[in-house]
Amino acid sequence: MGGIPAVKVDEKIRVSEIFGPTIQGEGALIGVPTVFVRTGGCDYRCRWCDSLHAVDSEYRESWKAFTSQEVIDEISRLSGGVPLMVSLSGGNPAIQPLGGLIELGHAKGYRFALETQGSVARRWFADLDLLVLSPKPPSSGMETDWGLLQDCRNAAQGTDTILKVVVFDEADYAYAREVAKRHHDLPMYLQPGNHTPPPPDDDKAVVDQNGIDERMRWLVDRVTADKWFEARVLPQLHVMLWGNKRGV
Ligand code: SF4
Repeated sequence: MGGIPAVKVDEKIRVSEIFGPTIQGEGALIGVPTVFVRTGGCDYRCRWCDSLHAVDSEYRESWKAFTSQEVIDEISRLSGGVPLMVSLSGGNPAIQPLGGLIELGHAKGYRFALETQGSVARRWFADLDLLVLSPKPPSSGMETDWGLLQDCRNAAQGTDTILKVVVFDEADYAYAREVAKRHHDLPMYLQPGNHTPPPPDDDKAVVDQNGIDERMRWLVDRVTADKWFEARVLPQLHVMLWGNKRGV
């Protein structure tokens, strides 16, 4: 981990939004009451990104620079002081200095899950309670650097780590199988792709739920026909309930 930057606790965190508690809508912690910290900025530009308000520089003005203490204060306010699960997402939260926040939160009993595409490794991955590595499939238009993904795993030694891959089509499915082959010791979660990007300030943001349901059924059939019984196929619960509305 020689090239991984060390934690500087006084660095400010670029925050797009902090909200909750609500349930985690996807992956291994689906249904778990969670406060969400969505950081601003991403080193990727996926074609179907559903969090553009936390990615595109045109929304940069709406991001705020918070100290770790300010973030934990807001989390405490939202959760009424009850130490819930905190989900760190983005953007790519790995490009933010989150080590100090995790330390402060742990001292109060909070637990931290972080989701990243696996393009930036950080020493403080080892302090997380769960690392979700979500490398992006061909439909995203991005290319995976397998070495960097491995660096992320190495940085998270001792931390529970899972894989999550979004699948839109056959090429994405083949990619998910490749990821699973390279990291066969990690649990794999598959999620049908959600095509419609959210209008950032539109409360009525809706998604093509039939399209998602159809993709979900196809994915279940595909996995079972392949006898890929180690993979878990899950929908995005929050999209089923609220579409792509922000802050839920
Ligand atoms: Fe959006 Fe995630 Fe892709 Fe970044 S990695 S552009 S946040 S989907």
